[in-house]
Amino acid sequence: MPTALTLLAHPDDAEILCAGTLVRLADAGWQIHIATATPGDCGTMTATRFDISATRTNEAKASAAMIGATYHCLDERDGLVVYDKPTVQKAIDLFRRIAPALVFTHPQDDYMMDHVETSKLARAASFVYGAPNISAFPLLPGSKIPHLYYCDPIEGIDSLARPAQPTTLVDVSGQHEKKLQMLSKHASQREWLRAHHGMDEYLEAAKRHDAARGRLINRPFAEAFVQHRGHAYPNNDLLIELFGTC
Ligand SMILES: [Zn+2]
Repeated sequence: MPTALTLLAHPDDAEILCAGTLVRLADAGWQIHIATATPGDCGTMTATRFDISATRTNEAKASAAMIGATYHCLDERDGLVVYDKPTVQKAIDLFRRIAPALVFTHPQDDYMMDHVETSKLARAASFVYGAPNISAFPLLPGSKIPHLYYCDPIEGIDSLARPAQPTTLVDVSGQHEKKLQMLSKHASQREWLRAHHGMDEYLEAAKRHDAARGRLINRPFAEAFVQHRGHAYPNNDLLIELFGTC
């Protein structure tokens, strides 16, 4: 069974950025793994970091279960994700245990540094996890450099407010209701976002963004990606081959 992995910073990032595509992959027979760098321990104005981590881990697991996916966490701390040797090793070991053929992560620039550092972790692990000596975990069959896609930056703009230029748009119109149901599993975040970001539209923001992406292909909803095409990475656009569109 082909395997896809998202390595994103926080619980709910996968649901916001690529859950529609994950639903499509799961429906097509892919095994899905959803990993986060942190358990979302700062995503609260009131709970202790232990309580909110437990709450958000359960929310992430419940969301993943909706598509038969497995949830993983590198157990780093919110706001403190760094690209350093121990954390790269954790990411490599995660990849090693999963052997993903398809990986999603954050873009190389985004609104906050946890996303930027997690993107670097995923890029590093994707390149090297198939090298026998890089991890103590056994090398699974099929371990090789995967197709790597960067999700949209939050709100579709980088840290200098420049709009992202997608290489790949996936029509998720038929999957969008389920995407919102997955996002709704992260109930704790509706309150947190209202308090910290001044926005009370957790689901509406996802709808608005995906509708804007959908307009680029004349469909109700789409998710946008940029494919990593550096040396040694597969160059064919696997998502387009699987799902069409552009
Ligand atoms: Zn995030």
